[in-house]
Amino acid sequence: MDKCIFCQIASHHIPADVISESDDVMAFADINPATKGHILVIPKSHTTNLFDIDEALFIKVLQLAKRIVRIMPEALGCSGVNLFHSAGESAWQEVMHFHLHIVPRYNKEELRRPFVSTPANKAELKEIASALSQKLGNK
Ligand code: AMP
Ligand code: ZN
Repeated sequence: MDKCIFCQIASHHIPADVISESDDVMAFADINPATKGHILVIPKSHTTNLFDIDEALFIKVLQLAKRIVRIMPEALGCSGVNLFHSAGESAWQEVMHFHLHIVPRYNKEELRRPFVSTPANKAELKEIASALSQKLGNK
């Protein structure tokens, strides 16, 4: 994955403001922060997104995210945090190397939810829940 920008950050071939790093995962500052302290957590090995990431590696990403989020209020003065992940171009993923966004929140910025929620059609909810549940084998 020579051309992948996050592979190059993971291998220190291009610079980043690294917050934490182990053999498997890394956290660094987003170069276009949505708010002060916007951080990305990545697996170091190339994997595209939530559809293909190894489960054990995903847990390591989450564990590092948890450690970072825990210290953010004191370190940054934030009062909340959003975690988000885009999996696939249809979900706005631009960099095709798995990354989890940590966006600290401060009560003052003008961020808006990127989607509008509308009341569900109850019959459709039942159908969807049933289809997913059957596929999972949780009946
Ligand atoms: P996404 O739209 O979820 O794929 O987000 C990609 C994110 O990567 C964006 O928030 C970019 O600002 C960020 N980004 C892209 N290149 C770099 C870089 N070289 N260093 C840090 N963050 C980057
Ligand atoms: Zn990569």
